[in-house]
Amino acid sequence: MDLLSITSLSDDQIATILDEGERWFAYNRQPRRNDHRLDGLTIVNAFFENSTRTLLSFEIAANRLGAQVVTMQVEHSSIKKGETLADTARTLNAMRPDVLVIRHGTSGAPADVARIMDCPVINGGDGIGEHPTQALLDAATLRQHFGRIEGLKIAICGDLKHSRVARSNALLLTRLGAELRFAGPPSLLPDDIAGGTIEEAVVGADAVMMLRVQRERLSEELGDGPGEYLAHYGLTKERFAHAAPYAVVMHPGPINRGVEIDGALADHDERSLIVRQVEMGVAVRMACLDLLTADRRVRP
Ligand code: ASP
Repeated sequence: MDLLSITSLSDDQIATILDEGERWFAYNRQPRRNDHRLDGLTIVNAFFENSTRTLLSFEIAANRLGAQVVTMQVEHSSIKKGETLADTARTLNAMRPDVLVIRHGTSGAPADVARIMDCPVINGGDGIGEHPTQALLDAATLRQHFGRIEGLKIAICGDLKHSRVARSNALLLTRLGAELRFAGPPSLLPDDIAGGTIEEAVVGADAVMMLRVQRERLSEELGDGPGEYLAHYGLTKERFAHAAPYAVVMHPGPINRGVEIDGALADHDERSLIVRQVEMGVAVRMACLDLLTADRRVRP
C-alpha cells in the first residue's frame, strides 16, 4: 500500500490514521517512549524540495517507532550528475528499504517512483499536486480541538493555485463533512475552485487555514509592495474578528509573517493551532508508518 493521495485512502484507513494519530499524540507527551514496532525496518527519506516540518517529523516518527532512518543527501547525490529520478528509484529499491518518503517538485513524481519501488511510498508533497499527510495532520488537529469535523466551517485562504496542502485538505475535509470556503487573489485561484474574497470566507468560520504565497512556483512576480498582500488578501486581526468567537487559525508553515498572516495572530495562545499542527504532524506520521508497514513486520 502506498500513500500518494487522499483519494487512495479508504474511509476506514482515514479513521485509523486519525484515531491512532491522536493516540500517538498523547504517547509522545510522555517523558520516555520506547515503542519498537518498526524494529529491523529501514525508512528512507528522499526530499528533492526543501522541508523543515515534514522531513523532521518523518525522521522523528520513524525513530520513535524503532526503525532505522536514512535521509538521502539530495544535494550531494548523483541526481546532480544527471541521474534520472527513475534510475535513482531503481538504486534505492535495490537497497531494500521498507518505506520510501519522497518529496519532489514535479506533480506525480511520487506515483512514478512508486511504480518502481517494491516497498510502500509516501508522498511528502509533489509540486502543486498533493500533500496527503499534511491534510491528515490538519484533520487530526481540528478533530482533537473541536471533537468533530462534520459541520465545521473552514476557510482556506491564499495561494490556492499552487498549494498541494489546499488540494489534499479540500479532498479530505469535504469527505469528512466539513463546509469549505475558499479565498485568494484572483490570479492565485485555480480554475476548478470557486473562491471569493477573504472577508466572505472568514465570516462565521470555525477555522481559518492560511496558505503561503508559493513565490518559487510563480511564473511572474506578484509585484506586491511591502504590506500590500496582507492588506488585500491576508489574515489581519480585523478580518479574523468576523470569524466565530471561538475560531482558530491554522497554517501548514512555513509562515511569512506580515504577508499572508499578521504575526500576532499566528502566535495567539488560544486562537492559533499552528504549533499544535506541528506536534500532531509527528503523531500522524507515526500512525501512517505503522499502517503502511503492518504487513512487513518481523514477527518474533
Ligand atoms: N510546507 C507546505 C508544503 O510543502 C506548505 C508550504 O510550503 O507553503 O506544501
